[in-house]
Amino acid sequence: MNTRRTFIKGVGSASTLTLLGSCTEKPNTIILAPDSTQRKKVNALLISATTNPGQKSLEHAHEMIVDTFGTAKRILLINFASLPEKRDSYAKRMRAEFSKIGPGYDMYSLNEFEFSECAEAVNTADGFYVSGGNTFLLLKELYDRELVGLIQKRALAGTPYIGSSAGSNIGGQVIGTTNDFPLVDIPTRRSLGLLGAVYNPHHPDPEIDKTQFDARQWKIGEYAAHNRDEAVVGVTNPGMLRIRGDKVYLAGIGATAFIHRNDDRFVVHSTLEDLGRIFAALD
Ligand code: ASP
Repeated sequence: MNTRRTFIKGVGSASTLTLLGSCTEKPNTIILAPDSTQRKKVNALLISATTNPGQKSLEHAHEMIVDTFGTAKRILLINFASLPEKRDSYAKRMRAEFSKIGPGYDMYSLNEFEFSECAEAVNTADGFYVSGGNTFLLLKELYDRELVGLIQKRALAGTPYIGSSAGSNIGGQVIGTTNDFPLVDIPTRRSLGLLGAVYNPHHPDPEIDKTQFDARQWKIGEYAAHNRDEAVVGVTNPGMLRIRGDKVYLAGIGATAFIHRNDDRFVVHSTLEDLGRIFAALD
């Protein structure tokens, strides 16, 4: 595969990206909110925060990253949540970080591909790492390139998917509870649905900031009251959801997950409890 670094160079704003063309080879058919049977093979990790306070970038997630990627080596970095002018340097940094996480990760970045090559880049990756930034920008750029259905298809078939923050938001059924501003318009809030719930990263921990915690819980409560067929899971910064098919575990030292499902609330601290059972009530 031919990588070119001319693709994003010189593109000053996200809104001009749509003018560059689109991947025409593959239809962007996504399965809306895949059910538990369709999620049977999912092998994913949805990290709340790339940097957990007091640790180096991704340090808190090293073990789970290695566990999720398994034997996968050719990792496609999807860094479209970053502003276009920051993507090259971000890719460089992530390559360096992943070379320290485990032996032999060969990370290549989707922003280095022409529009016409991006479907092939998705189809030939052994695994995906979708980094954080602005969730609306990320989803828009993936829809522009007709990649949402392709990534979903591969992840539902068992290709390892790791998201961080914005990358975790799009692992949910919709990006309904992102903390981000809608800095671009998107065709739909529908996303990959690898998790049978909607994700909220950076959920405040009441032990650390009760005011922020109450404010977030109120917002999520309002969302859940309006979207009664969706469970929402908020994950504190040390946390990450490890998804294996229909089973979902909370990993991360000191992590807590706050789940809203209709009028019910659940608080999970342990890695042993299967959160998938809680979401399943709405499947
Ligand atoms: N902006 C966050 C990120 O770091 C996403 C979010 O808070 O919803 O990717």
